[in-house]
Amino acid sequence: DRTPLIAGNWKMNLDHLQAIAFVQKLAWTLKDAGHDYRDTEVALFPPFTDLRSVQTLVAADKYDLVYGGQDLSAQDSGAYTGEISGAFLAALDAKYVIIGHSERRSYHNETDEVVAAKVKAALRHGLVPVICVGETAEDLEKHGPSAVPVGQLRVALEGVPADADIVVAYEPVWAIGSGQAATPEQAQQVAGALRALLGELLSADAAAATRILYGGSVKANNIAGFLREPDVDGALVGGASLDLAEFASIVRFKK
Ligand code: 13P
Repeated sequence: DRTPLIAGNWKMNLDHLQAIAFVQKLAWTLKDAGHDYRDTEVALFPPFTDLRSVQTLVAADKYDLVYGGQDLSAQDSGAYTGEISGAFLAALDAKYVIIGHSERRSYHNETDEVVAAKVKAALRHGLVPVICVGETAEDLEKHGPSAVPVGQLRVALEGVPADADIVVAYEPVWAIGSGQAATPEQAQQVAGALRALLGELLSADAAAATRILYGGSVKANNIAGFLREPDVDGALVGGASLDLAEFASIVRFKK
């Protein structure tokens, strides 16, 4: 089921009080707009310290918004100072967890092998991993558009069962926070290659059912073009997910 997914990655923005205000306003705005969450799913990725507040609010007010962590530990518990277990995210009713964001890969030296271990940890705890892949500008010049993201996904999926519930996010590093989004055609080319890999490594059913998101300078004025592409099933939105009106317009995209 490839229901479009619009995901807001807040990165290191909004404390728990700001999160409460933002989530309430977003839910009201979408309700006023008559948003049907069965048409487009809306997921939020706040900082860890916000998640308990978001859980409480979503449960109390019965919002159809879903949420998740921006990362998790590959371990389940123990002497890992500063780490967050997938078990803790699951206990807060998180549905998703972002894994292998390019900022984690570059600032925290996360390798494809670390990403693969975290994907398995997410699945152990019943979380849907949002596996991020994407090439740098240098990669693009050297290896062309698909080779690096496809290679990253190949390692990330090692040992993942064919029926696992996963999401893939293609985020070209050169498009993140740059204001220079990929074109819909560029996104489609890589998303198509990633879907072919899902078919090869998992199954034809998995390839047909798995959502592939595009991320990198997604805005209200370019979202529709991405969603018109056959292999792009949603967006992972950074900066624009912190602007209530902008994010609500992205959620309410019309093809
Ligand atoms: P921007 O939308 O700010 O380019 O960030 C994209 C991103 O990294 C989402 O995970």
